[in-house]
Amino acid sequence: MKNLQKDQTDYSEGLKKSGSLLEGHFALTPKADGVWRHSDRYINKDAIGRLYPDVLAFYGGLAQPFLGTGVATIVGPAEGGIAFAHGVARHISRVEKRPVNAAFVQPRYEGTDTDPIILKRGFDEDIAGHRVLIIEGFRRERRTTETVLRANPGNIVGIVDIFDIANGCFTGLDWAITSEYPKAIGVFQQAQRFLEREVEIVVSPPGAGIPIAHGFADYLSIVGNRPVKAVYTEFDRQIARDVPMDLGPFRSKIEGQKVGLIEDITTTGGSAKRMIVAIQEIAEIIGLSVIADRGGVTSDDLCGVSLSALVKIAMESWVDSECPLCTESKPVSGKYGKGRSWVSTIQGQQWLAAGGSITNS
Ligand SMILES: [Zn+2]
Repeated sequence: MKNLQKDQTDYSEGLKKSGSLLEGHFALTPKADGVWRHSDRYINKDAIGRLYPDVLAFYGGLAQPFLGTGVATIVGPAEGGIAFAHGVARHISRVEKRPVNAAFVQPRYEGTDTDPIILKRGFDEDIAGHRVLIIEGFRRERRTTETVLRANPGNIVGIVDIFDIANGCFTGLDWAITSEYPKAIGVFQQAQRFLEREVEIVVSPPGAGIPIAHGFADYLSIVGNRPVKAVYTEFDRQIARDVPMDLGPFRSKIEGQKVGLIEDITTTGGSAKRMIVAIQEIAEIIGLSVIADRGGVTSDDLCGVSLSALVKIAMESWVDSECPLCTESKPVSGKYGKGRSWVSTIQGQQWLAAGGSITNS
């Protein structure tokens, strides 16, 4: 991969602006040793890459290592990496004036399409009180719409049915080309009919609906000249951390091709490695491009695949009994990290009794 030395953009400012890189007083999830640690920084992964047009700068940065390599397809992990893979494929397609595809891998899980659909990751708070456009992807019933209605009654300004519910076929949107750039852009331009409705947030089902929500949010933010967010509903199911990744229908599309990989944040490199394992036998992996590396991941952690990160984030942390923020009685976050669990520990109880406090932010 080419190095990024020419790119002087400070992407950490963009992370802060998006609410992804937070500063304050946070209790971190204890590792296997059970020791509670605190930090003055916290990364909220789920806030990264939601807001248009701000996120476009990240797409340009993530695409840099793949320019001039002849990459055919950009792949990211579901659900968080899907929109990034699309944004990068689109960027390369535009810069190099040639077709570039996007694809995603997802964990092999036990479950069915009848599992409950929910809004997690604070997305329910994101949509509350805002004007919502829904991309509806469930054939038999409007499950995303139902979920949004529960969180945000009265603010739905439009629904786009990916499927014709009565006939089980595609309508309006040409599904087959939504992962081929630049063709997909023509699909996203259908967002034009919602321009006058002042859409603030676009909600989609998980998986293949995500790029459509992002494509619409992108279009509406640029043409409508106002910020638009994209979020997704998801199945209410727990997926073990180490399950293998699966390419599904994208497998045959990337066989023998040059592939570029995308990830939002790497900590141990574990999920990126599972993505690599799923792909390296059938395609040529050019490299892995991530927004932030907070764990000092090397290519040794990634089956030899080279890593390029827009930001390296050193997360300083302290054992709770030695935390300088506790010493100065700085309120601990009850929203991000594990502050609520920590204050019920003996150390946390003693700290509260000595004048410590917990916030809702
Ligand atoms: Zn502390």
